[in-house]
Amino acid sequence: MAWDGVRRVNPIADLPVALSFGMGLDSASILARWLVEPETRDFPLDRLTVVTAMTGDEPDITRRLMEQHLLPLMRAAEVRFVQISRAAQAGGYVVLDDSREPQRMIMRGPWRLSDELKTSGTVPQVAAKRRLCSWRAKGSVLDAWYADEYQGHPFRHVIGFAAEEVRRAVRDQSYTTACRQPEYPLINDWGWDREQCDRFLYSLFNQRWSRSACGYCPFAGSRAGLPELVERWRAEPEIGADALALEYTALALNPRSRLFGSRSAQDVVRLHGLYEVQRRFEYRLEQPEQMWSLYDVRRIVHPRRDDPTRKGATWRSVRIGYTGARGDVEEAARWHAHKAGASASADGYGITRAEIVPRGPSFPALERTLAVAPAGALAKQRTAFESWWERLVHEQRQPDSTRHHLYLAA
Ligand code: SF4
Repeated sequence: MAWDGVRRVNPIADLPVALSFGMGLDSASILARWLVEPETRDFPLDRLTVVTAMTGDEPDITRRLMEQHLLPLMRAAEVRFVQISRAAQAGGYVVLDDSREPQRMIMRGPWRLSDELKTSGTVPQVAAKRRLCSWRAKGSVLDAWYADEYQGHPFRHVIGFAAEEVRRAVRDQSYTTACRQPEYPLINDWGWDREQCDRFLYSLFNQRWSRSACGYCPFAGSRAGLPELVERWRAEPEIGADALALEYTALALNPRSRLFGSRSAQDVVRLHGLYEVQRRFEYRLEQPEQMWSLYDVRRIVHPRRDDPTRKGATWRSVRIGYTGARGDVEEAARWHAHKAGASASADGYGITRAEIVPRGPSFPALERTLAVAPAGALAKQRTAFESWWERLVHEQRQPDSTRHHLYLAA
């Protein structure tokens, strides 16, 4: 079958084969079909390595499906299964299991994507058309393992993009190196979309294969994936409460950080009557042992170099003003806001905040907000932030005619 833009690579029969295995419908279909229909592969199974990088936030149903259906097939065929995880925020990986007789799934390593999002006070984001979360939790970790495993020697790299994901496959090809030979059997050889994968796995296991995604995945909340996400939060309200908690801190530090872009997770919970999710989330916030912080958030929004009238890069500084019981921290927010000539009040998400320096209409723009949210996000700013902030505050006090000159001189 011909698909625009996706090159077919002629497989070299004796190369090792690595399947990047995300545990979702698509990669599970490839692995299951290779195991039960040997004529669908052109290599012996002793040449195959199945590799999974754990985010630490996959749902338990994924573990159950794997242990019930795929691990027994892999053990019977003695397929090598390597489970890895990012080692730490700074990078590296750890091997959680490496076996031709995998007995169980190890769904969490020393690092967890949600921990990283909590400490940075953000929700998953896309940058340069890449899902940063997926890159940090999976792509970069797998790449590091492949580099160590194959030591620059060529290998066939099989990825489970479904037939409707041609664009992702085309993008993936742009990262190809001399030793990595990417293959997309669902696109190039079988023409299987996700529906076909779903039918195949259901006919094989007599059970629906569920989506393997972090419970707060904003990409699962797209128009097509929303009904499944809502049902998942209804069935496992703790997962929905986790998503609300993640979003709450992100919104405190940036009110534009709605989990689903134009829609917040709070909206989704309200619109779909997910009362149990809401109740559990509020219960967490009300616990006396829950500590809260007063976050002092500043932003410098630079102008674009090629068009100073348009928004360029944004630098953010987060400082922790005070940590304690919620009531005390809210009181501190009111006091500091009053001192700065502003006032603190609850916004539409129930977050106490005060705009100390509202963002102006032109660039560079400065912005400063005090916001109250659960403790956990870490203070962070780039080294040059403070000097730029001082300089721009000084500049904004100057007459209009000299402002841009000062900025350029900096
Ligand atoms: S949040 Fe979504 S895209 Fe990001 S790693 Fe988790 S499942 Fe993948």
